[in-house]
Amino acid sequence: MPEEVEVGGESSVVVDVLVPVAVDVAYSYRLPPGLDAAEGDFVHVPLGTRETVGVVWSREVLGPGRGSNLKSVIGTVDLPPLPPRLRRFIDWVARWTLTPRGMVLRMAVRAPSHAGPERVRIGLRRAGPPPARLTPARIRVLDTLATLPDASKAELARAAGCSTGVIDGLIDEGTITPVVLSAEPLGGTLDPDFAAVRLEPSQKMAAGELVAAVTRRRFGTILLEGVTGAGKTEVYFEAVAAALRASRQVLITMPEIALTAQALDRFAARFGARPAEWHSAVPSRRRARVWLGVASGDVQIVIGARSSLFLPFANLGLIVVDEEHDPAYKQEDGVVYHARDMAVVRGRLEDVPVVLASATPALETRVNAEEGRYGHLVLAARVGGRSLPALAAINLRKTPPPRGSWISPPLAEAIGETIGRGEQVLLFLNRRGYAPLTLCRTCGHRFQCPNCSTWLVEHRFRNALMCHHCGHVERRPTQCPACGNADTLVPCGPGVERLTEEVEQRFPAARTLLLSSDAPGGAEHIREQLAAIARHEVDLVIGTQLVAKGHNFPSLTLVGVVDADVGLANGDPRAAERTFQMLQQVTGRAGRGDKPGRGLIQTWEPDHPVMRALVSGDGERFYRTETEMRRSAGLPPFGRLAAVIVSGGDRHAAEAHARALARAAVATIGAWRPAEQRLDVLGPAEAPLALLRGRHRFRLLVTASRAIDLQGFLRAALAAGPKARGDIRVDIDVEPQSF
Ligand code: ADP
Ligand code: ZN
Repeated sequence: MPEEVEVGGESSVVVDVLVPVAVDVAYSYRLPPGLDAAEGDFVHVPLGTRETVGVVWSREVLGPGRGSNLKSVIGTVDLPPLPPRLRRFIDWVARWTLTPRGMVLRMAVRAPSHAGPERVRIGLRRAGPPPARLTPARIRVLDTLATLPDASKAELARAAGCSTGVIDGLIDEGTITPVVLSAEPLGGTLDPDFAAVRLEPSQKMAAGELVAAVTRRRFGTILLEGVTGAGKTEVYFEAVAAALRASRQVLITMPEIALTAQALDRFAARFGARPAEWHSAVPSRRRARVWLGVASGDVQIVIGARSSLFLPFANLGLIVVDEEHDPAYKQEDGVVYHARDMAVVRGRLEDVPVVLASATPALETRVNAEEGRYGHLVLAARVGGRSLPALAAINLRKTPPPRGSWISPPLAEAIGETIGRGEQVLLFLNRRGYAPLTLCRTCGHRFQCPNCSTWLVEHRFRNALMCHHCGHVERRPTQCPACGNADTLVPCGPGVERLTEEVEQRFPAARTLLLSSDAPGGAEHIREQLAAIARHEVDLVIGTQLVAKGHNFPSLTLVGVVDADVGLANGDPRAAERTFQMLQQVTGRAGRGDKPGRGLIQTWEPDHPVMRALVSGDGERFYRTETEMRRSAGLPPFGRLAAVIVSGGDRHAAEAHARALARAAVATIGAWRPAEQRLDVLGPAEAPLALLRGRHRFRLLVTASRAIDLQGFLRAALAAGPKARGDIRVDIDVEPQSF
């Protein structure tokens, strides 16, 4: 019983409760007598005509007579409170991304509350005295509970033949108490000394720095940069071990679920037990248990995707962001945020070190390290004296593939040799499906998505044309829908399916495997395929960007990049950096075992700076040039940038809204720009993907000096602009990945 209530007699305790819906404000509720809730507690509250679970964001005592007009909290929920640092993180992310706080909260509490008290296995127990008012339904509930202890609310209601409201009433009166049921353990205890390797001197030095950072228990960001196969993972394992010894929790984020799976096995080999796994493919009941285990401190290590940043750590000691450069760290739907950047924010709020690991750091990260904002540890060579793969470009102008083929003679020869020696080959092509475009030879008709401004991709194994943006699928017709001619439709360009077909024809004896994220069977299947490659049960792997990342395939000695130019054509200022990173990563899969590796890069533009940097091994120079381009354009990290996307089903309405918004934004500039600073609003122009899922999209770009409060300006500009009506939507992307 809160003291304040007793003293004042009529004073009331008011709590502001944030609910996991798209609102920014925390609604105020009165705490009824006999019920108390502290900041961070989960509570049941009325919301409109329904009831929802929210989290107490703040709590205050009002003088007599005040707050009596407020609705009352219905009851508390037996979940561990949301830690204050996580609540501050939620506030921070919401402010940074211009998202309603409730939407960010939803990411943090989806596991326990979405699974609901029932699915998290919150059981009910008879606790307090019998209720003052006994109805037949209540009697049935109490009788049933005696024979069904630990039933969930839904189970109990069903067995007693009543609504859950009856049970809620009994919970409110304290007769029944919800309890979190103990579940089976989430895994064994991790042992920091289970199987440590003997580190090489350069690894030892880097590990020493990380261990010191963990021991210091202070925030700081450290870039751990090391060529592919440099032993970065073994280095950060030492930091993880240090955190375990200090009984503090560790969060390791990975950009891709397929990597999470491999990492779990590696952690198990090093620490003697598997850490907890966290991503959308983990079954919801298990996720709920991980959430509770993280909150109680029982879960020592979490390996997770982006969303693991929103877990309620009781006692965090270290965050590691592996493959920090990976574009998959950007979440583009719902709350638009970059998980690497938000990891640094979480680390600051938790006051723990953050390690960013990569062989090809993002330009932003490198600049942060160079300018001293981040620490910087470098592992310059591969472990065990292994050499980096030798990279060479194959000039497709000089040695083009035969007609209807995608593998040039030099690459074909290298493949044959490598397989002949009993070694493994990886062919990389970042295009899913059979062909990126289907064309009528007679009339030139091209198949376009009805909902998006993109071509439909042919998927031959499914006999379908598909949109990779909205999921639209149609059967591949036998005759052209425009001119009616039969047998005139031809696939244009290669996808991995088509490449597989060619490989199987040219190397019929090789064991071939196509690894693509859209293969049936999902994450589990991909995990098995990756393991089969690592065990050398396959000679020739064909893969999309899924294989480019972080994997360790000991027998792989040749990587062939089939079309190095794919990503360079789209005019995005980040395209060169992205392509460089991806090709460096994918060729870095070669030669990680005992035998040296090489990479052959097919390109129509061997003189492109990206190809030159790869072949010469002078990544430094490439990055310097790219950095200077960004600096002179005032783009991130040297300036600030946000995209405002206005979309709607009607093109004119969307465009008109975007124009009005741009006018309002321009009129707002004056108040936000000190004389010597830069703040500009560009557009509107058609957004890249001008039509997406049936919505027409227009984009404003806002660029500003670093010192400008960009979010503040955006908020003011949006407030000054017209209200979005009908199906018009305005989405903000702070520091967009493509611009
Ligand atoms: P990175 O993460 O930098 O690509 P890894 O940590 O995966 O590199 O190391 C590459 C390979 O070398 C792995 O198989 C790893 O187990 C092994 N390795 C790393 N450090 C050592 C070491 N000091 N002694 C022996 N093997 C090592
Ligand atoms: Zn589409």
